[in-house]
Amino acid sequence: MAHRSGPTQSGQHLILVGGGHSHAIVLRHFVDHPPPDTRITLIGREPLTPYSGMLPGFLAGHYSAEEMHIDLRALCRRANVRFVHDEVIALDLARRVVRGRKEEAAYDVLSINIGATPDCRSTPGAEIYATPVKPISQFVMRWRALFDRMANVMRLRLGVVGAGAGGVELILAAHHALASVKPGAQFHLFASERGLLPNHPHGVRRRLESTLRRRGIYLHQARVYAVTENSVCTEQGAVTLDEVLWATSAAAQPWMAAAGFVTDSAGFIRTDATLQSTSHKHVFAAGDCAHVAAFPRQKAGVFAVRQGPPLAHNLTRALAGQAPKRFTPQRKFLTLISTGDKSAVASRGGRLVLEGAWIWRWKDWIDRRFMAQFER
Ligand SMILES: Cc1cc2nc3c(=O)[nH]c(=O)nc-3n(C[C@H](O)[C@H](O)[C@H](O)COP(=O)(O)OP(=O)(O)OC[C@H]3O[C@@H](n4cnc5c(N)ncnc54)[C@H](O)[C@@H]3O)c2cc1C
Repeated sequence: MAHRSGPTQSGQHLILVGGGHSHAIVLRHFVDHPPPDTRITLIGREPLTPYSGMLPGFLAGHYSAEEMHIDLRALCRRANVRFVHDEVIALDLARRVVRGRKEEAAYDVLSINIGATPDCRSTPGAEIYATPVKPISQFVMRWRALFDRMANVMRLRLGVVGAGAGGVELILAAHHALASVKPGAQFHLFASERGLLPNHPHGVRRRLESTLRRRGIYLHQARVYAVTENSVCTEQGAVTLDEVLWATSAAAQPWMAAAGFVTDSAGFIRTDATLQSTSHKHVFAAGDCAHVAAFPRQKAGVFAVRQGPPLAHNLTRALAGQAPKRFTPQRKFLTLISTGDKSAVASRGGRLVLEGAWIWRWKDWIDRRFMAQFER
């Protein structure tokens, strides 16, 4: 039977659902600035949460799994937050109760930071035959199994469906990690009709297109309409593959729309610039699972990170009965795309585009400094 935990007699109960980038920053903030008279619980599907900035470097073999993960359990302990290892599957907004697979809990203020998963459902066969890049923990297991199988297979034909930043970094990291182990391996990247990196400036697209060409990675620009056991079917024909990795645009977890939130057309919680749900002010949302109506952005870890500090302040304000403050993100932001070989392409504001090994070293420095704040 489901265990039920409720708010304390005195004080308030804040529940954080998901241990994404924004909540990691919130927890770090609470280590030094705990909200007064508040009991806090974090419900997380995984005790170790991956840092997206280091994911491509991990896949390319430059970082260990330990280096790329934030230990949520340890961070919660430092912040005096109870960690509950569970997956939230429903929410009763009227009764203010969160339902996980193992237990349900009542809250006064709720914050959601559960990310998004690539949309496998709308392409027949993808759910069965392709490996989605999220959840990362499952993807990492498949990735390791792929390496183990390498020893026994004659050849490898690997495809990545989805040519946004995640898909491009993934195919380049895979190429770097596997091409030398498996000479003759083939790599295929599938972009939609919108082409390679549709949300990135022309200069970035041009550089990465030429990187793909140089490495002998095939770029297919045609809608993928089905996946079978050994092929990807596009409008220009089928491509035979041994492994298909799925990195298409993000889908929302269905329980958020089912709970009754106002969402965007994809089912992500619509929020004000304060990161409060536009329909339910006692609920905050950040990162990929939120759609900040005033400042729409691509789904990227860097934006989830930026929302961390204002989220921490606004949660503290809401718990104290004060009005949360608006958060205005920077209009121009730095985008870094790594190319697997310890090199990267940087762009800012759509104009400035730079590339080279030094960009990767700079990114490495930024990423390691980010992770250091979670170490004791
Ligand atoms: C291959 C690849 C490379 C990428 N590279 C970059 C990059 O270099 N830079 C960048 O900015 N972005 C990158 N991204 C995008 C980035 O991964 C996401 O935008 C980012 O992870 C979103 O962060 P988040 O905090 O919203 O959620 P997430 O990082 O997805 O974290 C969500 C957390 O919530 C937990 N959770 C999920 N569902 C539930 C539930 N129902 N109940 C309880 N807990 C739950 C999960 O276990 C996880 O800990 C990349 C993506 C891919 C696929």
